[in-house]
Amino acid sequence: MCGIFGVFGYKDASNITYLGLHALQHRGQESAGIVSTDGYDMHAHREMGLVSEIFNSDVLHKLQGYGSIGHVRYSTAGSSKLGNAQPLMFEYSRGDIGIAHNGNLTNALIIKEELQNYGSIFQSSTDTEVIIHLIALSHENTTLDRLISALRRIEGSYSLLVLTDRELIAVRDPHGFRPLVLGKLRNSYMVSSETCAFDLVGASYIREIKPGEVLYISKDGMKSYKPFKKVNPRHCVFEYIYFARPDSFVFGRTVYSVRKALGRQLAKETHVDADMVIPIPDSGISASIGYSQETGIPFELGLIRNHYVGRTFIEPEQSIRNFGVKLKLNAVHDMVKGKRIIVIDDSIVRATTGRKIIKMLRQYGAKEVHFRVSSPPTTYPCFYGIDTPSRGELIASSHTVEEVNKYMESDTLAYLSIDGMAKAIGGNDSSFDYTFCDACFSGCYPLKFPWDMELEQMELFVKRA
Ligand code: AMP
Repeated sequence: MCGIFGVFGYKDASNITYLGLHALQHRGQESAGIVSTDGYDMHAHREMGLVSEIFNSDVLHKLQGYGSIGHVRYSTAGSSKLGNAQPLMFEYSRGDIGIAHNGNLTNALIIKEELQNYGSIFQSSTDTEVIIHLIALSHENTTLDRLISALRRIEGSYSLLVLTDRELIAVRDPHGFRPLVLGKLRNSYMVSSETCAFDLVGASYIREIKPGEVLYISKDGMKSYKPFKKVNPRHCVFEYIYFARPDSFVFGRTVYSVRKALGRQLAKETHVDADMVIPIPDSGISASIGYSQETGIPFELGLIRNHYVGRTFIEPEQSIRNFGVKLKLNAVHDMVKGKRIIVIDDSIVRATTGRKIIKMLRQYGAKEVHFRVSSPPTTYPCFYGIDTPSRGELIASSHTVEEVNKYMESDTLAYLSIDGMAKAIGGNDSSFDYTFCDACFSGCYPLKFPWDMELEQMELFVKRA
């Protein structure tokens, strides 16, 4: 769960990157960083915290140059500490190199152990550092060829930006798990996890970087390469369900319109009579609008969010996570009193949020509370870059829908079906090809991996026995 942004050939590149990262802040709030190049030297700044807290004009002034990459991080591999903040920057025999990565490298630990056996010393516990070591060890001549040879050894998900003093290289893994888009501002190319960053900086969206594509950007312009074996794309469906910003154009569709379609489909599959539809803000808003439009049941903002609390789930500490629901949401008393309410959220993980909301609504006098979820039950962890806990913690992997309903104390509970999800994403397009990774719902992992699936996600890299 990270966001990346890069620009090449733009005066004050770090300022643009700072704005880009600000737009991508929803993709990670633990740490942020920017690496820049002025053609001679590379400069780096990384800190724990939010983009707005980390960067000020003094810091940005030091990040000189016309090329820059940036990163916002939420750890899915490697723990939450400054040493793991990205972009990573290293000096090796060919000069300085910076790297920013969104995804999870599923064979990183195996390669790390191998490299350590040959004497490599790692500075961080992120999976990303493995790529740097492989680049440094490569016998190829150019950064581009070194990077490609390194990536031939890598499995997993990666949307990647690499910066040196003379080039910016953007790569998307052959399955295209995570998004990566190309834009242009005046004569400069920029690359971002999501298009919302282009909107902020005034850049125009050109296209998606294709699965398996390597884009090489230098003072001579841009070149595209397809060096990897072609495989069927497997875009992450959870970007649509929850992760990406609704105003972004991701995998060829606007996230907001997909979420509304998910809500419409949910209404078709799980209709119940009620007085109002209310979303869990912000995650359930778009689907609730779709649900309301499909059924004619009025949409109301029955729950109000306190925006000054960070995303609850995103905090790694369990204590903060449990506390967060109460800190973050309150119900409008008059609105809910005596009403039959449909509450909609995009997903249930541990059911902590839903259970507390339902309790609160009942305390405020709601007559009925029906919980609806605009995705199928989350039953499997993600190993490709979304932070979902192990199966033991995912309530739907060990409980039936009825048991979860009982636990949450809702009158009824219903989820969207997997087929319904696919149909909603396809919209009205009959030729639509469903090319998504939905392993978190189906358990069908596109890439096989050499470990026990019960492992915590972060253990992927740091602790495998
Ligand atoms: P829970 O209360 O544990 O059931 O969590 C459900 C809430 O977490 C929902 O409001 C979701 O929008 C949100 N959520 C789902 N998946 C994630 C994730 N990977 N990271 C952060 N929040 C999530």
